Amino acid sequence: MKSRCARCGKRLKKGGCAYRLKAELISHYDGYIRVNPNDSMTATLDKINSELSKLTEDEIERQVYRKFEYLVCPACRDEVEKFLLTEERR
Ligand SMILES: [Zn+2]
Repeated sequence: MKSRCARCGKRLKKGGCAYRLKAELISHYDGYIRVNPNDSMTATLDKINSELSKLTEDEIERQVYRKFEYLVCPACRDEVEKFLLTEERR
């Protein structure tokens, strides 16, 4: 099976240098739920339930948790690293 860099599409040679890039994005709950202060608790829960019922299970999962795993070439590894460290270098 020929593998390619997930970012630039460059072919990754067998026995050559490749990097496995793993990332997780997990929804962070800060303890607050945005509600309309005029709504009762029941009305608020009804709203949340009706919002959730519009989404499929997959969509809900994607909003809460996303996991990535890619193979990338050395050049793309450098680019990704640069991107992630941009704030620190400013
Ligand atoms: Zn690449």
